[in-house]
Amino acid sequence: MQTLAKLIYPAQCLTCDEMIEVARGLCPKCWSQTPFIVDPPCDACGRPLIGEAQEGDLCDDCRANPRLWDRGRAAMLYAGNGRAMVLRFKHGDRTDLARSAGAWLARAAEPLICEDTLVAPVPLHWLRIVQRRYNQSALLAAQVAKLHGLDYCPDLLRRPVATRKLDGMTADQRHETVSGVIKVTPKRAKVIAGRHVLLIDDVMTTGATLAQCTRACLEAGASHVSIAVLARVAREG
Ligand SMILES: [Zn+2]
Ligand SMILES: [Zn+2]
Repeated sequence: MQTLAKLIYPAQCLTCDEMIEVARGLCPKCWSQTPFIVDPPCDACGRPLIGEAQEGDLCDDCRANPRLWDRGRAAMLYAGNGRAMVLRFKHGDRTDLARSAGAWLARAAEPLICEDTLVAPVPLHWLRIVQRRYNQSALLAAQVAKLHGLDYCPDLLRRPVATRKLDGMTADQRHETVSGVIKVTPKRAKVIAGRHVLLIDDVMTTGATLAQCTRACLEAGASHVSIAVLARVAREG
């Protein structure tokens, strides 16, 4: 049966389209070129730490400017094949990436998860969803929730106002642009009270959007918030 499925739907590498034997998503070459984050990373923003690191350590940025959320993880760096993959996922209609990418993200997010964790994606404005046809963060979040058997709330947060694209903006500009634009969906207020929320996004640059989402969750009564992203931009600005 599996052989038949393979014949009908041969597995393709998610980034170079090379045919692959095992359906783990990437050909060996692309796998080796994907910057997965493995060592204990910064416990708040998920970026790799320099030198000998221990579970729970923070990077200099997170120590100087504590994050609003408690803990964070990223599956890979937004560089090389990690960047190529995110761009394909975002603009290339490759929703099949969500399965593999969601599994990598679920593994990276494992230390953050507790029994009452509620998984929610960073919201897109509806206009963006129309343009892209899907919210890539929601696809990832659904996969993370499924693999860990957690509650999933796709419309926990909403973005009633469309904001400009943040690409190329400084940290301050990003913060200002997204400030106050993300809200908890009123009918979800009951779901969030007293819960640990795990926010999922595809990429984290400065964390401005995730900070706004965290603020909205805490104001709505979440007990604490963690974040997990597919790819972390190593250096900001
Ligand atoms: Zn490949
Ligand atoms: Zn950090």
